[in-house]
Amino acid sequence: SYTNRLDRFISQNSIYSISDTRLLVAQKRIIVDGVVASSNQQKVTQFTHVELDGHCLQNNKPIYIMLNKPQGIVSATKDSKHTTVLDLIDHPLKDELHIVGRLDFNTTGLVLLTNDGTWSRQISLPETKLAKVYEVTLSKPVTDEYIKVFQDGIYFGYEDITTKPAHLEIVSEYQARLSLVEGKYHQVKRMFGFFQNEVLALHRVSVGTMSLEGLEVGEYREFVVDKTTN
Ligand code: URA
Repeated sequence: SYTNRLDRFISQNSIYSISDTRLLVAQKRIIVDGVVASSNQQKVTQFTHVELDGHCLQNNKPIYIMLNKPQGIVSATKDSKHTTVLDLIDHPLKDELHIVGRLDFNTTGLVLLTNDGTWSRQISLPETKLAKVYEVTLSKPVTDEYIKVFQDGIYFGYEDITTKPAHLEIVSEYQARLSLVEGKYHQVKRMFGFFQNEVLALHRVSVGTMSLEGLEVGEYREFVVDKTTN
C-alpha cells in the first residue's frame, strides 16, 4: 500500500513544486475525492482521486516522450486556434503529460513531454547544468565578438537577471550553435537581439544526452529514463 502527502503527490504528478501547492489549495484548484482540498498536508493513498484544474492527477507509471516539433505548432497542451504539440501525440495517457521547456511557434526540434513532475523540474533547473543545444540561422553575420558576450551573460532588464554562461560555436557566416543551461522566455532570440541580429530559424537539437537522432519532423518516440544515472 502507499500513502503520500497531498503536496508531494501534486509535485510528483504536475508541473507544480511542493511550495506551489499551498497557493493551489488557497485558490481552490485542488479537488480530493470530490471535495475542495483544505490543506496541502492531507494524506493521499493509491485510491485517492486528486484533481487539479479539473484534470485527474494520477500516480501512473512515468512516461517520457521526445518530439521533433515542426514549425507552426504551439508548445501548449491546448489551444483554440492552432495545432499543439499534444495534438501530434497518440498515447493512451496523453492527457497527463506536460511540456518540459517550451519552444516558440516557429522554432523546431526537441520537445520533451512527461507526466513526471520531479524529473521535469530537475531537467529545467539551471543548477542541473543540462545543455540545451540550438542551431541558429541569423539575418546578419555572426562574429567572434559574440562568443565572449554570451559567455559573460547578457542582462535581461524585464526579469532583472543576467543569463548564465552560454557556449557559442560559429558554424558559418550566418549559422551558429548555442548551448544554454536555462530557458528564459525567447532567450536565444533575445541574446542575438543584443547585437540587433534577428534569428531567422531556430532548431533545438538536444537536451543533455537526449537528442533527436532518427526522428523526422513531426515524429516522436517514448524513451526510458535511468534514474540511477540521471
Ligand atoms: N529561445 C528562443 O528564443 N525561442 C525558443 O523557442 C527557444 C529558445
